[in-house]
Amino acid sequence: MGQNALPALDQESKLPQVETTIFTVMSAMAAEYGALNLAQGFPDFSCPKALLERVHQAMLAGMNQYAPMAGLPLLRQRIAEKVQHLYGAQVDEANEVTVTCGATEALFVAIQTVVRPGDEVIVFDPAYDAYEPAVQLAGGRCVHIPLQAPEYRIDWQQVKDHLSAKTRLIIINSPHNPTGSVLTADDLNELLAVVGLQPCYLLSDEVYEHIVFDGQAHCSLLSVPALRARSFVVSSFGKTYHTTGWKVGYCVAPAMLSAEFRKIHQYCTFSISTPFQQAIAEFMADATHHLELASFYQQKRDVFRAALNDSAWELLPCAGTYFQLARYRGFSERSEVEMARYLTQHHGIASIPLSVFYEQGCDEGVLRFCFAKHNDTLLEGAKRLKAVPFQ
Ligand code: PMP
Ligand code: GLN
Repeated sequence: MGQNALPALDQESKLPQVETTIFTVMSAMAAEYGALNLAQGFPDFSCPKALLERVHQAMLAGMNQYAPMAGLPLLRQRIAEKVQHLYGAQVDEANEVTVTCGATEALFVAIQTVVRPGDEVIVFDPAYDAYEPAVQLAGGRCVHIPLQAPEYRIDWQQVKDHLSAKTRLIIINSPHNPTGSVLTADDLNELLAVVGLQPCYLLSDEVYEHIVFDGQAHCSLLSVPALRARSFVVSSFGKTYHTTGWKVGYCVAPAMLSAEFRKIHQYCTFSISTPFQQAIAEFMADATHHLELASFYQQKRDVFRAALNDSAWELLPCAGTYFQLARYRGFSERSEVEMARYLTQHHGIASIPLSVFYEQGCDEGVLRFCFAKHNDTLLEGAKRLKAVPFQ
């Protein structure tokens, strides 16, 4: 190596353990083999035409320059009205709501806002894969606590046992990706007890807040003032309006936390696409769009489950999100990663193995299937799964 040559970056990677995310890997494999993509979570149907028209109109009306750094005032106002209506939270849209580039940016920025070198962050496994790299980049360390299968509930005693003076942040995700479990009011009381023992911040990933089934209510951290006072609550319009490609999300946090959050957001993305924000703000005026989402997806969950009912696949409970877990240990000893590859290559159906979301290898033969799809796609997917031979 010459005197002025750069050192090989792969040898001093800031994220040595990180590989390409499973969502990219499985979507690429689905495309390569022409498989049904029930892996990465996105709808295979269009968003409402009226929403598309609003984007078009906003563009034609000249809304094509930078939006304000924190988000369009009208959109922040509509978000504040929504959380007041659904969770009874009085939110100051000027100082407590920030529009972000999807929930992904909000999660990343919230973590950078509070986590410092040496801090510990509690996450629950299987954990959505965006959390840990952001914690590592901030110099922190994730403390992983497994959820209790098959209902994937939080064991609050374990949380108490893992608290330390270094615990800086707890990351909650309800409805939970990838398991479909949801937090209850009792869970929020337990969380309150935990933060009473060790003062720490909370990051609540609520991107599936409108997709909770069987008449249950979504328990937002915004609904409990003592939790809200220490929380970053994150959501995404990608899930709610079938527009994952638009990457518009937001973070609600108390003014002091939002001020610090914005210091990072302004140098991360600065602001989010103006015509999309305008269109979403206008669309939000009609609450039925998000209020009817749960029944829309519950019907899809039920179509998919019914089609697999008399099969060798064991369906796990699904209380929210648009993901269904299915277990195959009864008929195959393959690892989850092997099974996901095999199904994509040989049976034309792509899924997500759960094992990649655990720190400590856990391989119980469970795959995640996205049911944000046309009913025909779901029926065809179930047919292909039923055709998998026992081995
Ligand atoms: N959190 C969870 C739990 C998710 O499932 C997703 C995406 N599907 C995100 C965050 C990221 O959301 P966005 O696409 O708005 O960045
Ligand atoms: N959150 C989506 C899922 O769980 C994927 C998002 C992504 O691809 N980054 O499938």
